[in-house]
Amino acid sequence: AASAQDELFGHPKGLYVCFMTEMWERFAFYGMKALLLLYLVKHHLFAQADGTLLLGTYAGLAYALPLLGGLLADRYLGMRKAVLFGGILLVLGQLGMAYTGSAATGTTPDNAVRDGFAIQVMYFSLALIGVGVGFLKPNISTIVGRLYSADDPRRDSGFTIFYMGINVGAFLSSLIVAWIGEKIGWGYGFALAGVMMALGLIQFVIGQKHLHNHAEPADPVMLKTAAFAGLSREWLIYLGALVLTVVVWQVLQTRIDFGPLTALMGGHQVTLTEVVAVVMGAALYVWFVKLMFSGLSRSEKGGMIMLMVLITVSALFWGLYEQTYGPWVLMAEIGMDRTTFGIEWTAGQTTAIGALCVILFSFPFAWLWPKLDKTGLNPSYPAKFAWGLVFCGLSFGILAFAAANPGESGKTSLWWMILAYAVLVMGEMVLSPVGLSAVTRLSIPRAVGLMMGAWFLFSAFGEIIAGRLGTWAAIEPDAAGKYDVAAALALYANVFTNMMWIGLAAGALLFLATPLLK
Ligand code: GLN
Repeated sequence: AASAQDELFGHPKGLYVCFMTEMWERFAFYGMKALLLLYLVKHHLFAQADGTLLLGTYAGLAYALPLLGGLLADRYLGMRKAVLFGGILLVLGQLGMAYTGSAATGTTPDNAVRDGFAIQVMYFSLALIGVGVGFLKPNISTIVGRLYSADDPRRDSGFTIFYMGINVGAFLSSLIVAWIGEKIGWGYGFALAGVMMALGLIQFVIGQKHLHNHAEPADPVMLKTAAFAGLSREWLIYLGALVLTVVVWQVLQTRIDFGPLTALMGGHQVTLTEVVAVVMGAALYVWFVKLMFSGLSRSEKGGMIMLMVLITVSALFWGLYEQTYGPWVLMAEIGMDRTTFGIEWTAGQTTAIGALCVILFSFPFAWLWPKLDKTGLNPSYPAKFAWGLVFCGLSFGILAFAAANPGESGKTSLWWMILAYAVLVMGEMVLSPVGLSAVTRLSIPRAVGLMMGAWFLFSAFGEIIAGRLGTWAAIEPDAAGKYDVAAALALYANVFTNMMWIGLAAGALLFLATPLLK
């Protein structure tokens, strides 16, 4: 742990370095995410269903690759170098998106400029961002854990502060990047995401001394010695990552036609990304089953089984949750009266509501958990996850009701969406930060890094599921680029009701299974 001289407000200074790095990384990630689908759909570059699928596969890859980035950092690179390298890829990717955003445009389905080169730049940029997140995100989180010694009571509050940083970044970028992208120019919005990521990286370079030796390579000498063709392991990893980026660039745009499966998926082919993710998930389960037969103690086994169940369940939660960047944004765009307090918010800006709720709810929840602990009423991990699913289901119920009952203008009020976000984020608060803490508490020590990667891998499944579920809510404009608002709202009412039942049913099942798991 850090010495007392290197502290600020009762936490190691390194925490604030990580906080700022992850804040700007999420600023770039979520600003881009708020814009991506709107950009593709408003310029008629992609049909809505294809847009939600791309969003799902891209974000899915961005959450699957941390498994690899975490492993490489553990074994070879160390976290600090991994964060630096990932950050550079992220900046390049965001700038590539800026190029696409200004090159491929259109106002109606007929005049859309589906410039082949610009679209390829987009896929390549998404690949750069995916690989960049893979190197940066798991490792910046692991550094936070390493700043505290094993029994340091400040660890949990350190993670709470860190999770706030994530959401401060998401909140600011939803307000600023989305507005600039939608109002001034898509390219400028994407570019701002890149510029702020670059500043975050410079901040990391200046602040990295505060990480002391908590994030250095396991074996610096081995890393620097030539291993192949005169290249050191370090350079081989960097070059390998670039090759991986090229592979991901292709994977992102490859679809496979599995006949009957395609029909089952409403005519949307399986993406290669999905195949890759399923293979990674299967490998994880195989590893897990082997581990169960490797002579762990009873309590170690129990903890790991519980953790795998929680991680698996989280995929369904994220599958519903991530509708916020898909159909929720499109509903805000097409069917919502977005003026409150005399300000007309853009559709992309509505994604800021979720992050704002996380920031606001962090304080009461930080206060609530220890209180519940004292009275012995603190729900178990599975019960908390079940509540997460229930809140998530309820939020869809709220939005379904709003869509079914539009106001005088024929559109729904933004206030319904604010309420839906508030309920959804109640679910996030009992599941997401709790999940991170569950990983560090329930995992056997030598597998914590891997289990952190597994946690994000199931966020990847969530993103992929979200892309698929999102296709249910796809609706196409007429030749002039206009939508039938009433038809769109009727569709949202229907689809969101179904999503509500999915959340509630899954939550109820998990409640029933809770005594068993305990
Ligand atoms: N919103 C959180 C983040 O960006 C959690 C996302 C997730 O695990 N799917 O880090």
